[in-house]
Amino acid sequence: MNIRVEERAAPAPVRRKTRLDRYLEESPELAATYFKIRKHAPKIVISGYDITKRCNLRCEGCFFFEGDLSSIYSDGHTIEEYQTFFKNEQDRGVTYPHFAGAEPALVQDRLRLANQFWKNGLIYTNGTIKIDPEITFMLHVSLWGDEETDKLYRGAPVFKRGVQNYAGESRAIFMYTINHQNIGFIKDLVKLCRENGNRISFNHYSPSRQYNAKLQTAGADKLHDKRSTFRFSTADNNLRLTPDDLHNIRDTLDDAIEQYPETVVYSHYYNEWINDPKGRYEVNDKTGWATNCVILNKPYHRQYHTDFSYSDAECCVANIDCYSCRHYVAGYTMIMDKFYQHLESKEDFANWLDVYDTWCRLHFRDWDRI
Ligand code: SF4
Ligand code: SF4
Repeated sequence: MNIRVEERAAPAPVRRKTRLDRYLEESPELAATYFKIRKHAPKIVISGYDITKRCNLRCEGCFFFEGDLSSIYSDGHTIEEYQTFFKNEQDRGVTYPHFAGAEPALVQDRLRLANQFWKNGLIYTNGTIKIDPEITFMLHVSLWGDEETDKLYRGAPVFKRGVQNYAGESRAIFMYTINHQNIGFIKDLVKLCRENGNRISFNHYSPSRQYNAKLQTAGADKLHDKRSTFRFSTADNNLRLTPDDLHNIRDTLDDAIEQYPETVVYSHYYNEWINDPKGRYEVNDKTGWATNCVILNKPYHRQYHTDFSYSDAECCVANIDCYSCRHYVAGYTMIMDKFYQHLESKEDFANWLDVYDTWCRLHFRDWDRI
């Protein structure tokens, strides 16, 4: 009987080995990373939330306060309305929320509530106000330089307070936004983070369209009040990165990764890609929007304003000028989305996997110890 059944059964299809199978067989190290990601970071569905429009700082060139696609919305929803909102987002399938704003640490009741719906997620914070240690989301603590430069760019000793609040914390990663004027501080800040038991990663300053426009007229309409986010920049003295800067950054970060691999969360391949002086996106000259930006084109990704509105035509950093956008969220997503384009050789695949693994180190607590 059994034999007959076996005789009648269609032969099992023989699955041909793919290139990916071969790479994984040849390299146990690649296989370990690949299967770790598949097991521990499956089904990542991201959406972004501007969770407040308040901030205790006013950083030069801030793309939230400089823009008309972020700070103009009302911010008066009750905690009950947030409860329904988060529930709906969870039902929509979001598995990994990003909380930004202005400064999320100012609305910790909203963060605590969100944490009841999601265990994993990410908060973008300036680090000056400690976020409840019970909240399990990862923290990207923005860093713009040392005490001197903080005074100039941000009007407060931001890094000092960030270190006081988060020394040795595994959920916090300092995110150094590199601009034209602070490249020279990178090495020292990496060492300081290491001494404090913190990890550090990097973002590239990407000007908003409004910042670029103001540079054209700087001097004529420049504001001198402390609450302005356009205090000192001019056409000749500003934060925008030049092609020489990008070469310099690439070399500095390649060295830093080699020297302090446990402190510096960054990938050589990403470093090469993001510092290519050519624009990173194809931009429609009529609209000014990138046509191949993955974040913008993901159907499930929404960036909610503080009044719970969103637009399918906006990315997570909607005021930024697409021509010079090098924001890390967009950059990582761009590479991670190109899995099939990185299967030509084992080296290509290893590069892709390294970027994905770096993203996981940035987004999951204790990823290195899993
Ligand atoms: S911390 Fe600075 S960059 Fe961030 S929202 Fe506040 S003013 Fe803007
Ligand atoms: S993330 Fe995409 S859409 Fe947004 S500014 Fe950057 S390139 Fe443009």
